[in-house]
Amino acid sequence: MLAAQDACAPSDNDLLRERLFQRRRVIDLQEIAFAREAADFAASDAWEEDGSVSAVDWLRFNCHMTAGAACNAIAVGEMLEQLPESHQAVVDGEIGFAHLATMARTAEALDDRFDERVLVEKAKENSPGKFFYICHHARHAFDPKQFAAEQAEQVEQRRLKLSTWIDGSLLISGQLDPVGGAAFLTKLAPLARRSGALDYRDQEQRNADALVELCSGGGSQAQIQVTSSLETLLALAGAPAAEMEHSLPVSSKTIERLACDSSIARVLLNSESTVIDVGRSKRVVSEPGRRALAARDGSCRWPECDRPPSRSAAHHLVHWIHGGSSDLDNLILLCHRHHWMVHEGKWQIVRGEDGRMLTIPPMVHFGPPSRGPD
Ligand SMILES: [Zn+2]
Ligand SMILES: [Zn+2]
Repeated sequence: MLAAQDACAPSDNDLLRERLFQRRRVIDLQEIAFAREAADFAASDAWEEDGSVSAVDWLRFNCHMTAGAACNAIAVGEMLEQLPESHQAVVDGEIGFAHLATMARTAEALDDRFDERVLVEKAKENSPGKFFYICHHARHAFDPKQFAAEQAEQVEQRRLKLSTWIDGSLLISGQLDPVGGAAFLTKLAPLARRSGALDYRDQEQRNADALVELCSGGGSQAQIQVTSSLETLLALAGAPAAEMEHSLPVSSKTIERLACDSSIARVLLNSESTVIDVGRSKRVVSEPGRRALAARDGSCRWPECDRPPSRSAAHHLVHWIHGGSSDLDNLILLCHRHHWMVHEGKWQIVRGEDGRMLTIPPMVHFGPPSRGPD
């Protein structure tokens, strides 16, 4: 008898679930109360008195909300009277405020063609994310012309602002319509995943690297006009920086990387400024050599990196400028990022006795050097 009672008693996990469910319901009801007041506020001139450009703007700054959350609150408040069934479903805990916000936006867009009864059943059966998609389909089904007009308007909002900072860095900001954005993400997202061992980059750094990799062809198809003296390439003291199209002068380390597989259009000058080598995408590594390298390495050789040969450069373990050959045993494939780490990032990659590649991080010095200059 005692055992049967224990079996029926709610477990700690049951209680935790119930507490979360009830707390979310209370928050959702508070959100509705907030939405009503937000709509009243938007209809007033209170936000103008404070010098805000809109009620959304006022809510963003003073209530610490995103623009999307502020727009949702106002939309729900304005449309609530027309959404009695959806409102009741939130009160009953059958749908959440996120569903209600999508419902309000859809009602706004469809006006008198909006059928709450059909959509509220869909809301009860689907997550807020899935319901958001369903409502987009519904909007298209009710009025394909209006839907197309809205998408065309989104394209009109497109912009890509590029400005060069005083240190030569390029600042980028912009907006793409959903279709353009999807095309962009389809190319960018696979390159922005973590790659290889010891990848501590955050998402924004990976996005930036992916964009550069995309534009540079991964290091194997770049067509960048570079002018450099041999002294610069050898990083000799007194040598000027190298010159590159669309950039301020660049360091000898960067030129060393770009020249490593010689896939750049380059002009090398000797110290008398005489052109000694003009290569239009001329490669130190021949095409058959590159195919053999691709077949042998299969991908970037950095531990745990799987970038394919098409996105990797032929890295000389001993650079050709220092007399290294372009034979297979002096070459390995390295993707754009790992090639950068080896040249500019001061990492080393060496072949171990068993043939595996080993990576050595740059030396980090703490405190003053242990001995002074000779
Ligand atoms: Zn290299
Ligand atoms: Zn790699």
